Amino acid sequence: MSKKKKFIRGLKCRECGREYSIDPVYVCEFCFGPLEVVYNYDEIGKVLTKETILSRPRNLWRYKELLPLEKEPEGAYFTGYTPLMKADNLAEILGVKELYIKDDTVTHPTLSFKDRVVAVALAKAKEFGFETVSCASTGNLAHSVSAQGARAGFERFIFIPASLEHSKIVASLVYEPNLIAVDGNYDEVNRLCSEVANKYRWAFVNINIRPFYAEGSKTQGYEIVEQLGWRAPDNVVVPCASGSLMTKIWKSFREMKEIGLIDQVNTKVFAAQATGCSPIVTAIKRGIDVIKPVKPDTIAKSLAIGNPADGFYATQVIEETKGFGEDVSDREIVNAIKLLARTEGVFAETAGGVTLASTIKLINGGHIKKDSLTVMCITGNGLKTQEALVGHTVEPHYIKPNLAAFEEVLKKIKQDT
Ligand SMILES: *Cc1c(COP(=O)(O)O)cnc(C)c1O
Ligand SMILES: [Zn+2]
Repeated sequence: MSKKKKFIRGLKCRECGREYSIDPVYVCEFCFGPLEVVYNYDEIGKVLTKETILSRPRNLWRYKELLPLEKEPEGAYFTGYTPLMKADNLAEILGVKELYIKDDTVTHPTLSFKDRVVAVALAKAKEFGFETVSCASTGNLAHSVSAQGARAGFERFIFIPASLEHSKIVASLVYEPNLIAVDGNYDEVNRLCSEVANKYRWAFVNINIRPFYAEGSKTQGYEIVEQLGWRAPDNVVVPCASGSLMTKIWKSFREMKEIGLIDQVNTKVFAAQATGCSPIVTAIKRGIDVIKPVKPDTIAKSLAIGNPADGFYATQVIEETKGFGEDVSDREIVNAIKLLARTEGVFAETAGGVTLASTIKLINGGHIKKDSLTVMCITGNGLKTQEALVGHTVEPHYIKPNLAAFEEVLKKIKQDT
């Protein structure tokens, strides 16, 4: 038995529990439930100690035994291990004791947390022998598959809603994938991709190799625990599109306990969504686990999935951990982006605005206790969604190129403050 086989048990249906071998499959043949990777935690626990982890390079492969790969890919990007920053300026304004930003706006090659899932998905696609990779994307996934796929030498078919932010389209196009801009919303793009996936033998990172892709999200959770000094936070606030990231962060905390890296997990998991697309939060607020699909209408396009694949499981995580969810308006999103930049020097994309604005509501509503430790997952960089801020920032001071002109403006600035 290879070393890696010892660590991975196979795939398992989340509904009926039937087990499958490691193949590019994603639904149970018997009940159509989604498949999930399962591991031999006893074996992993024997080798993956704190010392081993700390001795490895600071990227997401330092947790490779907990990822569904035969081995660490060669020549992959250096991705993961993003900063966990204590946000004291913001904490003071919000009136809470300990607040942290898990800053996935930096360090990643395409500046969003999607580089975690894509790194794992493309490595797995290589192991399966695929030559073409594809995805349905709300923006960041397109960017990441375009870039990482170029480096790994894949042919790439990227499907997006044509209405995506201009900057995200350009950011994908520069890597010269085949970019298919569909006249429809994400849920329509995704449906089209399911049909294409049935017909062409391509690795669709978020369809036929989704069980492997999704596991990459766990690395964000491992890093949070490690960077907090080997403890799970009291609260974690996660922006939700399909709901996958949230369920995987929760899985990562439980795994770390399972293999003995931490003693306990008492984390409450909170969902953050835009009011214009909040099927998961709506279900939580109504106290039901049936997700009612919606037609998205929000500036937070990276989160605009109206029919979230993992929505049901996300509501279960919230119920199990006694968390909650909040949704916020486009106005609140913009104000939160500006607040985060002004107080902590972090420029987040719209999804980051959703996370902070939702956190504020969760604190004010008493769901997050003021004396507890909260981590906010800030998942993408603001340079990618600059159009959301047009007309909402302060203006430059325009002057002629001489000292007198500058001093005139300086006087005005000093008077105003
Ligand atoms: C994709 C994405 C998420 C969350 O996605 P899930 O589908 O819920 O895993 C969060 N933030 C950003 C910026 C994203 O691009
Ligand atoms: Zn099943």
